Amino acid sequence: MAEEFKALEAYQRQTEALGRIAQRLGWDHETVMPKGAAGDRSEEMASLEATVHARNTSSELGDLLDSVCLTDLDPVERRQYDLILRSFEKTKKIPADLSIALARITARSHAAWAQAKSQNDTSIFLPLLSEVVNLSKQKAAAIAQDTDLSAYDALFREYEPDGQVADVAAMFAELRPALVDLRSAVLQAAPAPQLSGQFPRELQLALTQEIAGVFGYDLSRGRIDVALHPFSTGGGNDVRITTRFDDARPFDSLYSTIHEVGHATYEQNIDAAYNFTILGQGTSLGVHESQSRIYENQLARSREFCGWLYGRMRDVFGDIGIDTEFDFYRAVNAVTRGFIRTEADELQYNLHIMLRFDLERAMISGDLAVEDVEAAWNDRFASDFGYAVDRPAHGMLQDIHWSEGLLGYFPTYSIGNIYAGNLWAKINQDVPNLGHELAQGNTTAARNWLRENVQRHGASMPAPDLIAQACGTQPTAAPFVEYITQKFSAFV
Ligand code: ZN
Repeated sequence: MAEEFKALEAYQRQTEALGRIAQRLGWDHETVMPKGAAGDRSEEMASLEATVHARNTSSELGDLLDSVCLTDLDPVERRQYDLILRSFEKTKKIPADLSIALARITARSHAAWAQAKSQNDTSIFLPLLSEVVNLSKQKAAAIAQDTDLSAYDALFREYEPDGQVADVAAMFAELRPALVDLRSAVLQAAPAPQLSGQFPRELQLALTQEIAGVFGYDLSRGRIDVALHPFSTGGGNDVRITTRFDDARPFDSLYSTIHEVGHATYEQNIDAAYNFTILGQGTSLGVHESQSRIYENQLARSREFCGWLYGRMRDVFGDIGIDTEFDFYRAVNAVTRGFIRTEADELQYNLHIMLRFDLERAMISGDLAVEDVEAAWNDRFASDFGYAVDRPAHGMLQDIHWSEGLLGYFPTYSIGNIYAGNLWAKINQDVPNLGHELAQGNTTAARNWLRENVQRHGASMPAPDLIAQACGTQPTAAPFVEYITQKFSAFV
């Protein structure tokens, strides 16, 4: 390896390590930090972020990038170089005062959003959302200069660095009508049975830890703690997840843990040689979500795995109020009316996402004024879900994302589901005994396939290429539509 590239890699290694430290501080903030430390933590985070930002825009980094002779690089080194250069150029394009303005407004808009939501009063949030959208447009324009990116593409690429909004819109256009029809048919059928029984916290915790192991989470390089919202964080040899417990709803903890284990094992299974390089992370949020969703849904909510889990839950909790494996499978996959994205089932979830995707694209393009978002939300909800939003907290105020300036983020959830559909079709071709193994509570063959074809590559390949290579075909919405239709038609 040429000396110049080695020097660039060494520089990046320190930046990556600082990023990990910031993540660890974030984890601490959500789990064990004393309440009184919040002010100190803000200052610690701000100074760490300023240090990382300075490193990412420094003339030293510019000189290192200039010094590398591109023809000396192998393809993996070239990908590293390109990702570092892309981040350097993008960060430099955003004026410092705009970054500061965005950070300031999102702190204020988050507070306004929380107040608006608790009082069910959209008018408290709209002026702040308007400022967030304006500043986001300025940021998009800055990133898009000297490129042919649309403003929304510029924002979207923060999360899906190699994706194209037009491709996503085409996949969503295929998905949406299929889901609207299917949800309406399933909701007309008899409701799924419900769990009943005693689900003490300590037993839930023990089962959760067991299931995390079943899904390959390496607890010698990770840990499970309790937090308000489940999440996964970290990389390399320290990838942590959180969960939460509700005495009446054991599926909440179980399935959110399996979801986070999907994210965490992706990070744990990245080739060790990429640790502390820019390749030592998931290649996009969409691919990340494909791993969490395939663990949670295609594997853990499958008919076969539910058969095994039914037995384990009865061993652990005794009577759970459900008499047959098939009823348990229906309970795990219950489809119900509801307003809230984070509580939505596998069938309806993507309708929530596509609604947000279309509205935020229209806000950024200027086709939809911020004052008209609530009406547009309510119209779209009524048309896709068949009933009216009853209050703003159940409508456009339900999610935190826009208040934090996360525009362009929502579609990555559904991209993940679509990628999961493509990967699942291929796994079923390549692993013939899959159903039999899942019925024994054995996920090894499926996980090995995912590690080999997706996870170990880290960010060394662009997301669409990675999925295309793994599946042997370009990703489309069709395999997911087929999977979801086949699964939920059984309940009609
Ligand atoms: Zn996720």
